[in-house]
Amino acid sequence: MKDRKPLMAANWKMNLSLDEAGDLLERVRGAEVDFTKVDVLVAPPFTTLQLANSILAGTDILLAGQNMHWEAKGAFTGEISPLMLKEAGCSHVILGHSERRTLFFDTNEIINRKVDAAIEAGLIPIVCIGETLKQREEKKTFDIIRSQLDESFNISRQRRNPPESLVLAYEPVWSIGTGKTATPEQAQEVHLFVRRWLEGNLDHDSGETIRIIYGGSVRPDNIKELMAQPDIDGALIGGASLKADSFLSIIKFYEG
Ligand code: PEP
Repeated sequence: MKDRKPLMAANWKMNLSLDEAGDLLERVRGAEVDFTKVDVLVAPPFTTLQLANSILAGTDILLAGQNMHWEAKGAFTGEISPLMLKEAGCSHVILGHSERRTLFFDTNEIINRKVDAAIEAGLIPIVCIGETLKQREEKKTFDIIRSQLDESFNISRQRRNPPESLVLAYEPVWSIGTGKTATPEQAQEVHLFVRRWLEGNLDHDSGETIRIIYGGSVRPDNIKELMAQPDIDGALIGGASLKADSFLSIIKFYEG
């Protein structure tokens, strides 16, 4: 039995109108979820945060930004600051999603700055790492994961940030939005590698306490076998989080 409470996090990406978002959030809000067994988080587009914050007020459902800039304010057209996310009701922020890395050139160094700025501002970063199909086929998965961890937590390591201030998300790039889920064994192998890295590189018992969640074509029909793995502590869910039925069925994986 894992001591870490599972986290089910919805990444809506650039989807849903305000009306659609409102309907979905009302359904999630109205569902009977045992929050002693699972943490639930929603990351809508920035323009939906205010609506989400008002619908989710008074519930245990957490709110996250999908990205942010590392500076507090200034001439950064099109960007959003950690403080702005906090003011909008966010407790978390997703950083280093593979779409940000590949389409918007977020490097490990940039992610490193963002991780530090998020923690400084009191936001919990959900830091995404993962290899491409080519890198997996060339048997470079662990090298890639190690360098993503080394370079994205460079500042955190020096500052010795507390373990409760982080969530890791292992998202093999080849499984995001493709319908190809990593097998539970493939995911577990990488999660264990990440846990060992945390134990060796961050403070004291970080390896035991930090949640490492899995992302990549998570659905109601594969969540239970993923969650049965000892080092998988939840999921980052894209496509299946856009419909109340599938998201709720993933959230309630604990019903067995
Ligand atoms: C994601 O965007 O983080 C993701 C895992 O997407 P999907 O569940 O659609 O593969």
